[in-house]
Amino acid sequence: MAIIATEDLGKDYHLGPHTVHALRGVSVSIEAGEFVAVMGPSGSGKSTFMNLLGCLDRPSSGRYWLDGQDVARLSRDQLATVRNAKIGFVFQMFNLLARTSALENVELPLLYGGISSRERRERARARLGAVGLADREHHHPSQLSGGQQQRVAIARALVNDPAVILADEPTGNLDTRTSVEILALLQRLNRDGLTIVLVTHEPDIATYASRRLVFRDGRLRSDEHVTPLDAAEALKSLPEEEEAVA
Ligand code: ADP
Repeated sequence: MAIIATEDLGKDYHLGPHTVHALRGVSVSIEAGEFVAVMGPSGSGKSTFMNLLGCLDRPSSGRYWLDGQDVARLSRDQLATVRNAKIGFVFQMFNLLARTSALENVELPLLYGGISSRERRERARARLGAVGLADREHHHPSQLSGGQQQRVAIARALVNDPAVILADEPTGNLDTRTSVEILALLQRLNRDGLTIVLVTHEPDIATYASRRLVFRDGRLRSDEHVTPLDAAEALKSLPEEEEAVA
């Protein structure tokens, strides 16, 4: 079954007398377990598309089904509920709370779910372990390297068991080796069944996804299934770098 299905999805922005057609009828279907890279030049509609997929905004036209639910016409409040239950977000800037431990950052999405503090802690701990940071629970973001901060953010995105992870330039702030390490983590999670949609403008990063959607002028210009590079394998030929811990 498709986790994400859109039909003629469109988004217009109205700026005074002008209308910007940011997205012009995009139909796409993404199955559970896919790892999709979204590419295209600046202004091609990638962010608009991701905002709609992430239930952060509502389309001007067309349809959108997320995990079988028709979400295109939901109110903003209803969208927020769907978003919390179904989507895990990973951002370029990590977006962690600064004065809060890694463990508490991962627990955050669970605060709204009526889950006991004990269970919150257990689930957050398990997720931190799954991203290789069991020994960094009490570190604050400033005490972690960029790659470690992004791992915390990935653990946070996973803690609600979302249907899909939406990652917006998740390696945009990381050096080459750390980027490939993050891709290796995402590939491992994907092999375990996680569906991932990742926006990147870097062709090198897109080579680790198994499908590439390319946008141009608000339209889906190409949609290719490809054999991805294995990030764990690629790491073997990249030089080790000192982990910069502030
Ligand atoms: P990308 O992420 O590929 O750079 P965007 O989705 O951000 O592209 O933008 C697509 C088009 O929509 C661009 O022409 C952009 O200027 C316009 N746009 C994006 N967001 C808004 C907005 N909030 N208001 C008006 N125009 C917007």
